[in-house]
This record gives sequence, structure tokens and C-alpha cells, in this order.
Amino acid sequence: MSVVQEAIARLIPHLTPFEPGHVWLAGAGPGNAGCLTLDVIHALASADAVVYDALVEPSVVETARSAQLVHAGKRGGKASASQDEITGLLIELARQGKRVLRLKGGDPFVFGRGGEEALALARAGIGFRILPGVTSALGALASAGIPATMRGTNKAIILATGHAAGGKEDVDWAALAKTGEPILVYMGMSNLARITDALTRGGLTPSTPAALIMSATTPQERVLISSLGSLAAEASAHGFESPAIIVVGEIVRMRSELLGLARQVEAG
Ligand code: SAH
Repeated sequence: MSVVQEAIARLIPHLTPFEPGHVWLAGAGPGNAGCLTLDVIHALASADAVVYDALVEPSVVETARSAQLVHAGKRGGKASASQDEITGLLIELARQGKRVLRLKGGDPFVFGRGGEEALALARAGIGFRILPGVTSALGALASAGIPATMRGTNKAIILATGHAAGGKEDVDWAALAKTGEPILVYMGMSNLARITDALTRGGLTPSTPAALIMSATTPQERVLISSLGSLAAEASAHGFESPAIIVVGEIVRMRSELLGLARQVEAG
């Protein structure tokens, strides 16, 4: 047994058993297998059915060797099952007495419709459990070397969705801009220019540090460091696309300082 297997074996008695007829709504983190929680690995190994979203890495889903695998799609622009179809399927599988793992990218309760799915399960009287995951914005910051909070720089962070930018359900970007706190935007790539413009109209100067972190924690990760005024143009010039997190605020500056120092340490 490897040292990793031994460590996991010691932790297994502390894990909650996966009961038949239950649904576990879980987050697989931003992509890297190292970000999976032990609960999720346990669930993958013991599930009878896994219903997973597009942003979950195939190599992670493939660890559930003995389970029925259902791809629920759910990625902007691509054909996917409707939310009602997904919740209907979860309920049906649970009523067949299966252990059902509902696996989402990041954390299931952060912009992942996990709340809606949990509510549908509760209403149907199905036993469920929520397994947290590393949410992609925080995983992306860690991976890119940008501290989410830094004493003297910020006392709060804002997580927002850019999905509805420009539409009726849009976020009040001006109100967020006025807080002066860093803003992390999920699902914002197709509305990037709209979002940066709205933040500028809301009072942030075009020179405010801004970044994009694409495919964070995966081998395809790319980071763009820019300013609020130039971010959208540079993103298209350099081919940045979804999935990515938009980061706006002074915390972005810490990256060059940290990485510069890290390089000195490596060199020394
Ligand atoms: N529940 C998820 C978010 C789902 S919304 C979570 O907690 O992370 C989907 C959005 O998440 C994408 O549009 C993108 O903004 C972000 N995202 C997901 N995986 C990502 C990754 N590896 N790198 C950067 N952003 C990612």
C-alpha cells in the first residue's frame, strides 16, 4: 500500500456511509484531481449512479467504474438536459434504491443550482447530503498566486455571476464597484466588455488591476494580468474563453510580488 493509500485507509472510518436511496449533491472542485475531497472520492467509489455536469473532468468521473454514468450537460450554449429533467432523474434513481451522486464543478451551492436541486429532493422526501467542493473562484486565485484577502488590501470579497449581464436579472455592478472590494465573476466571459464597462461607469478607474484565470488548476490553466480598461480587448487578442474567472481589484497586484519572490527562492 502506498503512503497515500495508508493515510486514506486511516480516515475511512470517519466518513459518512452512503445509504441506498440517497442523493449526495457534491462539488468536484475546479478540475484538478488534487482538489477533490475524500467524501467525493468515497462517493465516486460507492455510487450506483453518477449524474455529472460538463465542467467535471472526465478522468474524475471515470473513477466511478461500477456506476451508471449520466452526463447532464449544463454548459452555456451546448445542448443539455433541463433542470426539471435533471431533478426528475435524481428522484427516480433514488426511488429505485440507488446511491446517487450528483456531481457538479466547484462547489454545489455556488452558482451551481445546487440549492434548487436540494429543494426538489427535500420536497420529494428523498434523503440527501451536500458535499462541499473547492469553488472555482477561490481555487483559481490560489492557483494563480492571488490572495483572496490580504490584510491592508481588502476586508471582503464579492462573488458575482456575469451570466445575466446586460439583461433584466443583471447584477448591480455600480453598487459592487462602490464597495471598493475585489470582485470575482463567474460565467462572465461572454459578457466581459459589458461587465468591465459597467464597473467603470460605477466608479472604478480603468487602471484598476484586473485578471482572467482560465481553466484554473488544470493543465490548460492560463492567466492574464491586465487592467479593467484593457481586460476585454486583451482577452480576445489572447484567445481567453470560458471557463474563466474575472478578478477585479487591488489583490491582483500581489501576484507579481509573490511570484517574483517565489522565483528568487527557487533560484537561491
Ligand atoms: N459551482 C461552480 C460554478 C459553476 S458556474 C463553482 O463553485 O465553481 C460555471 C463557471 O465557473 C464558469 O463559467 C467559470 O466562470 C467558473 N469555472 C468553473 N471551473 C473553472 C475553472 N477550472 N477555471 C476557471 N473558472 C472556472
